[in-house]
Amino acid sequence: MKSHVRVAVIGGGVVGASVLYHLTKAGWKDVLLVERAELTSGSTWHAAGGMHTVNGDPNVAKLQQYTIQLYKEIEQISGQSCGVHITGGIMLAGTRERLDWLKMAKARGRYLGMELEIISVAEAAKLFPLLEKKHFKGAMFDPIEGHVDPYGVTHAYAKSAQIGGAEIVRHTRVTGLQPRPDGSWDVITTQGNVRAEHVVNAGGLWARELGRMVGIELPILAMQHQYLITGDMPELKGKQEQLHCIDFEGEIYIRQERGGMLMGTYERAGVPWSEVSTPWDFGQDLLPNDLERIAPSLEVGFQHFPALGQAGIRKVVNGPFTFAPDGNPLVGPIRGLKNFWVACGVMAGFSQGGGVGLALSRWMVDGDPGADIWGMDVARYGDWATLAYTNAKVRENYSRRFSIRFPNEELTAARPLRTTPIYEKLQAAHALFGDYCGLEHPLWFAPSARQAVDRVSFRRSNSHAHVGAECRAVQESVGLLEISNYGKFEIRGPASAEWLSHIMANRVPNVGRIALTPMLNERGKLIGDFTICRLAADHCFLIGTYAAETYYLRWFERHAPPAGVSVRPCAMEYVGLSVAGPHSRALLQSLVRDDLSNAAFPFMSFRRMDIGMVPAYVGRVSFTGELGYEIWVTTDYQRALFDLLTQAGRTHGLRHFGGRALNAMRIEKGFGTWAREYRPIYGPIEAGLGRFVDFKKSAFIGRAAAAEEKESGGALRLAAFSIDAGDADAIGDEPVWHDGRVVGWVTSGAFGHRVAQSLALGYVPAGLATADLKLRSSANGARRSA
Ligand SMILES: Cc1cc2nc3c(=O)[nH]c(=O)nc-3n(C[C@H](O)[C@H](O)[C@H](O)COP(=O)(O)OP(=O)(O)OC[C@H]3O[C@@H](n4cnc5c(N)ncnc54)[C@H](O)[C@@H]3O)c2cc1C
Repeated sequence: MKSHVRVAVIGGGVVGASVLYHLTKAGWKDVLLVERAELTSGSTWHAAGGMHTVNGDPNVAKLQQYTIQLYKEIEQISGQSCGVHITGGIMLAGTRERLDWLKMAKARGRYLGMELEIISVAEAAKLFPLLEKKHFKGAMFDPIEGHVDPYGVTHAYAKSAQIGGAEIVRHTRVTGLQPRPDGSWDVITTQGNVRAEHVVNAGGLWARELGRMVGIELPILAMQHQYLITGDMPELKGKQEQLHCIDFEGEIYIRQERGGMLMGTYERAGVPWSEVSTPWDFGQDLLPNDLERIAPSLEVGFQHFPALGQAGIRKVVNGPFTFAPDGNPLVGPIRGLKNFWVACGVMAGFSQGGGVGLALSRWMVDGDPGADIWGMDVARYGDWATLAYTNAKVRENYSRRFSIRFPNEELTAARPLRTTPIYEKLQAAHALFGDYCGLEHPLWFAPSARQAVDRVSFRRSNSHAHVGAECRAVQESVGLLEISNYGKFEIRGPASAEWLSHIMANRVPNVGRIALTPMLNERGKLIGDFTICRLAADHCFLIGTYAAETYYLRWFERHAPPAGVSVRPCAMEYVGLSVAGPHSRALLQSLVRDDLSNAAFPFMSFRRMDIGMVPAYVGRVSFTGELGYEIWVTTDYQRALFDLLTQAGRTHGLRHFGGRALNAMRIEKGFGTWAREYRPIYGPIEAGLGRFVDFKKSAFIGRAAAAEEKESGGALRLAAFSIDAGDADAIGDEPVWHDGRVVGWVTSGAFGHRVAQSLALGYVPAGLATADLKLRSSANGARRSA
C-alpha cells in the first residue's frame, strides 16, 4: 500500500468502486481504495441488481439514466461482464390514483427524453402474462429497465479504475482518521497509515462509523430487506426473459431469475438493522429469514400473480442496506471538515452508483458536481437530523417506498419535533401544519377543528376554498403569516459589506435598506437567493432558504470572510411573523411609534423598532406581492408579538394565512424560490433575476460567467403560464408543450385565487419565450399552456 495518495476512497462496494473509477476517468490517477474484506462485502453482494430510470427527482433520474448507460463502457474497459439484462419493465396500477400517479411519472419523464408509455391492462398482460388482470386498472411501460450482476458491476468499476492507475487494497480496515493542519488526512488502517489529500467515505453499511471517526453523525440507517426466488416455473420454459414488474398495491417487485422468479417487498412493517452501530464482523452474511413479516405483501403478490404461488420458494435472501431519511443518497463535501467527502446512503446502487461517482468525482476535481444534485447533496440535512429522527423517517420512507405521495400530503413520522412558541396558538386557530427541516409551520387554516384535515388528492383538495379565502383576505384587508421557517444569518464586522459584495451578485444596500440578491457560483449559476437587510455599516441580517442553511454555510466556509467578519446562522434565534395586505400598514402603525408612511418607511426599508413592548426588526417587504411587513423577533418575544398583532388586528379584519396561500400568491407575482425556480442549473438572466445582478461592481463570484450570460441572453427563460385546468393544478415537473413538442418543464404551480386562474412557472428555451410573448400580445391573449 502506498504511503501518500491524492485520494483514499474507503469502501469497496458498488459506490466506492464507482467513485474510484470516475476519479481516474477525470484524471486523478493517484487514488487508492481501501476495503475491509473482499470487494462487495457490505450490502452490495446480496443485492437483487435491479435498475430503472424513474425517480421522483428529475435530476436524480438523469443520473440514473447515466448509470445504466455506463455499463457498456466499463465492460469494454475492464473486460468484466456486468451481466446486464435490459428486459424493459411495467409498473402496475391497481387504483385510479395510482394510474394518475403513473400518468404524472410519464409526463415528468418526457422532458428527460424517457419513453414511458401508459398501457391498458390487456396490453400489460400480453407483456407480462403472469399477472391476473382483474386486480389492475392500467400500467406504465418503461423500455429501459432490467438487472445486472452486482459482483460483475463492482469488479468492472474496480478493474477499470485499476487500468486507469488506481490501487485497491483488500482486507485492510480503516480504524481512524486524523486531520492534518494542511487539510490532508492520516488514514489509519490495520495495515499501516496512509496520508491522503482527500478522503471519501463510501462505507455503505459502516458509513456512520466512518463519520463518527471524524465527529459527525450521518443521517443514515440500514433496513432489513427480503426477496425470495421461486422454484423453476413451467410458465417460463422456452420463453423470452420476463419483464421487470412493480406491483404498487402488493408493495412488491418481480423479475425473472434463471428458471424462476425473484420477488422482493417493501413491506409496511419494515425493520431496521443495527440501529445504533454496525458490527465490524458482519461480512458476506445474511440475516435470518422472516417471511411472516412480509406475509401480507406475499399474500397479495400470490393473488396478483398466481403462478408464483404455485412455484414454491427456492431461496430467501434477507440483507440490510442503508437509506437517508428521504431515500436519496448523501453526496458531497462535509461542512466544517476539509477535504472530507461522502458517497453513502445509496439505496439503489445499481441505478444510482454511476451518477453518484460521476457527480462526486467532478466535485472533487473541478470544484463543482457539474449537475444539479441538490436532491442528493449531504448538505440538505442539518443538526436536526439526529439518530432517532433518522430512524423514524427511514422507517416511514421504507414502508412508503411503493406508496403514492400526494402533492398535498404531509408525512407524519418524527413529528412534531421542532415548534415555535406560538405553535399551540396556531393549533387553536385550526392550523394544518407542514414539516420543514423538522420544524412545524402552518400550511392553511380550517374554519373548525373538525375540518382541520387534509384530504389527499392530485386534484384540488378540501383546503382549496379555505386557501382561497386566505388569499382574498390578504388582497382585501390583512393577513398574518408565521415566517419562522426562513433561514437567517447575522454578518458583523467592519468589512462585512465588502465580503457580502464579493459573495453576492447584487450590491449591498445602504443602512436601513433591503436588497434582493442572487448568489452565484464561479460558473455563474444560481446557488442561492437572499434578502440582505442592512442594519448598520458593519451589521447585516441575511435572509434565505432554511433548508439550504448547511449548503450556504459550506459555501461561506469555502469563501471565508476576512478576519474581523463573523457569519452566524441564527434561524431559530429569530422567529418571524408577517402582516400583508392593504390594512397591514394601519395595523402595524397602531402598535409602533415610528412613522410607517410611504415617505418615512418606503418599500424595501429595514429598521429596528419596538412593537408595543417587543423589540423587533421590521422590513417593508412581502412575498405576497401586497403591501406588507416582515417582522423578526428573538424567540422569547414571539408569543407577545403574536398576541399584540392578533388583538390589534381584530379591527382591521386580520385573518391567518399559511404557506399554501403564500405559495399561490408568489406564483401569481412570478416570484421564484430556491429549489424550484432557482437551482444551480440556471443562470440569473435565465431565471429573470438579471436586474438583481450589479454589473457595475468590478468583482463578485460568478461575474464573468454572468456577464457572458447577459451577452448571450442564456439558453432558457423562466416564464409564467396560465393553464386551462379543470380540477387539478400543476405541482411542478410537468412538461411544457409547444407545437406538439416538449420544450420545457414546470417548476411550480398553483391556483391563483386573486386572479381566479390556474398558474405555473417553468423554463422554456429563451428564444421561444420571447417569440411566444410576441405571439401572445399579437393574438390578443392567446394562452400558452403547461
Ligand atoms: C436484499 C437487498 C436487495 C437489494 N436489491 C437492489 C436492487 O435490486 N437494485 C439496487 O440498485 N440496489 C439494491 N440493493 C441495494 C444495494 O445493495 C445498495 O444500494 C448498494 O450495495 C450500496 O453500495 P455501497 O457501496 O454504498 O455500500 P456497501 O455495499 O455496504 O459497501 C461498503 C463497503 O465499505 C467497506 N467498508 C466499510 N467500512 C470500512 C472501513 N472502515 N475500512 C475499509 N472498508 C470499509 C465494506 O466492507 C463494504 O464493502 C439491495 C440491497 C439488499 C440488501
